[in-house]
Amino acid sequence: MPQGRGSGPQFFFMREPQLTLNPDRFPEVPDALHSRPEYPLPDTSLRIQPCGCLLVLDSALSRILQCSANTGLFLNAPAETLLGEQPAQVLGRRLTGKLRSELRANERLSGPLSLQKEIDGRKTRLQVNAFRSGTIVVVEVEPITPLGNRRLMGTVNQWLTRLSRAETPDSLMDTLVTGVRDITRFERALVFHFDGEGHGVCLAENLAKGLSPVLGQRFAASDYPAEQREKFAVREVRSIPDLNAAPVTVLSWQTVSEATVARIDASGTVLRAPSRRQRNFLDDFNACSLLSIAIVGQSGLWGMVTCISETPTPLPPTLRDAARTLVSMATQRLFLIKARMESRFLLQVQESRDCLVEDVRAGLSPAGMLDKYGKDWLSLFRSDGLACVNRGEISAYGATPPLKSIARLARGLAHRHGQGAWASSRLRHAPLAKGLALNGCCGLLAVPLPGDDAQGWLMLFRPEHDRSFYWAGRPEADALISTPAPGQDLHRTFRTWQEEVRGTGEPWKPVECQAAVDLGEDVALVASASEITRLNQMLRGEQQALAMANDKLREAVSHDSLTGIWNRYRIEQELDKELAKARRQKSPFCVPLLDIDHFKQVNDNQGHETGDELLRHIACEVTGVLRQEDAIGRWGGEEFVVVSTGASRVDGLILAERIRKAISEVSIKQLPEGVTASIGVATWRPEDSRKELVARADKAMYAAKTGGRNRTETDQGL
Ligand code: GH3
Ligand code: MG
Ligand code: MG
Repeated sequence: MPQGRGSGPQFFFMREPQLTLNPDRFPEVPDALHSRPEYPLPDTSLRIQPCGCLLVLDSALSRILQCSANTGLFLNAPAETLLGEQPAQVLGRRLTGKLRSELRANERLSGPLSLQKEIDGRKTRLQVNAFRSGTIVVVEVEPITPLGNRRLMGTVNQWLTRLSRAETPDSLMDTLVTGVRDITRFERALVFHFDGEGHGVCLAENLAKGLSPVLGQRFAASDYPAEQREKFAVREVRSIPDLNAAPVTVLSWQTVSEATVARIDASGTVLRAPSRRQRNFLDDFNACSLLSIAIVGQSGLWGMVTCISETPTPLPPTLRDAARTLVSMATQRLFLIKARMESRFLLQVQESRDCLVEDVRAGLSPAGMLDKYGKDWLSLFRSDGLACVNRGEISAYGATPPLKSIARLARGLAHRHGQGAWASSRLRHAPLAKGLALNGCCGLLAVPLPGDDAQGWLMLFRPEHDRSFYWAGRPEADALISTPAPGQDLHRTFRTWQEEVRGTGEPWKPVECQAAVDLGEDVALVASASEITRLNQMLRGEQQALAMANDKLREAVSHDSLTGIWNRYRIEQELDKELAKARRQKSPFCVPLLDIDHFKQVNDNQGHETGDELLRHIACEVTGVLRQEDAIGRWGGEEFVVVSTGASRVDGLILAERIRKAISEVSIKQLPEGVTASIGVATWRPEDSRKELVARADKAMYAAKTGGRNRTETDQGL
């Protein structure tokens, strides 16, 4: 272990060279408190503030490896008498045992322990804090100064109650700074929040009369770099009661090797002397005392409560702990309020999503969806414009860039962006918006619509949001990322100046990105449901067209296009059917075949059109005088065949005469005198084929022609 007893050869090598503690070089403890030491630093560069003392123990808590030079003041034992001793000698057996058992399982004590010492004949209560750091244990000892008649518990409870009643982050932070200042009595208490880029902004302030406020001011990330913030998130509390108090050195036991000392990290102690950065910060405020308490959220340092005063402000550990209690209560409350606000927002988005489910069923189009929900979504997402890009089709709502730009943004996103939401509050500077007309849109939150093609996007646009930032210290772009070299003076001119921020939109919150991703999933559903509906409609349309074409085809196969009655092919089928039936049932039927007389003349004299019209009228009139069960078809040209089922010769004759009469009564405007027809009626004979039957009807019809036309002849005797 650090003493090296019983360790391997490697350790012996590390022990060399050893520094020998020279008691002569030690100043008297009180001097160390009041003046800077003039001797070279002993074997540790750690220095602490004089308001307490520090012990560094080995891992097993069996030896004091280091201690601050001022232990005489607090523990009644000069430093040089403690080095190498057992901690129990100065801290007592009980306390040391407690430290040992607590630090066996934990890095830190669960709470401070207390110790009583008689110093200069007066009983003094001390607060003891301890934590592990690598292979050592650091013990901090601070006196608990009596608080007089201040009723601390009551005051703290009062503030805790007030904090628990705060409903908004703003009122919570205001209550916090007021409470912390009330308890600590600093001149000024502030809450800083670190934004996404690490810049600090003062969100709340409570200050003594006559001081100028810094509320709303920003502090550049370069003044408080990321690694400092990370450290602070772990250490949480920083207390500097008096910046100008001379620091106290920390001495090492002579047998501890230089290498071991170099590895000792006791910087986590609240007692450590102010760093250059803290000096600069306090100088900037013209202040000499400070208390900072971190506000740590799940994702690291959210901000801090900082108290400063122009005059030294001694802060007993009890008050410091009380302030810390307020901060941790406020931290919990802050994240609770934020979580509530977020869940309220998510609930509203969810309600919108629930409505969308109905629209999925109804097959609402993306454009219809934007019309229906656009207004709600814009207000929910604090945006001015909305666009939905789906299968190359763009629907837009509100103030958006031109459709052409939206299409190119979508292409750029598909090209360069992977999964999840893409958000920018400086769209103009984004490579994918290069050269595009943006209609003043500065913020874009784009979420992919899940699907096969990865081409669909839901986009939300925010307008330019002009802001004036009041900076203290100058933000320097390069310093935002670079780590300052050791010893580099980080002090910056502490002049406030105003930055006009142009061309940026309100930043997108992570919860908004998440909610938009969720919404995108439903929008994709609506879009694909509408696509399916559209395809179905198309399919239905095509099916209808096909059915109509089929009907037409069927009609064309069996019907005559001019007159609409059956064509020759179909009436031949009917003749065959009738022949078969007659053969089966031995039931007779007649076939009147009619031919219009001198029809050629009609064409010649009145024109072909008139001939057509006349044919249509004749077909219609003849159909009108048939029985329901009779059939008629156009045999060709101006000839028609009728199949009169169950008709005897006489029936056929009567029917033919009815037909002839009907034809003779047809008259049209161009041909008022009308036309006549000659009809031949064939009656079925058992040995008949279709050909023979029709041939007899034809012959009978010719007989009527030759007999003078406009008459009926039968096949009797033929
Ligand atoms: P007949 O009394 O001897 O039957 O004399 P016809 O002129 O009626 O007989 P013909 O066979 O010499 O002429 C039939 C005419 O019918 C010839 C043709 O121009 C006409 N025709 C045939 N089909 C159509 C048609 O679809 N529309 C029109 N407008 N005329 C047709
Ligand atoms: Mg003819
Ligand atoms: Mg004719």
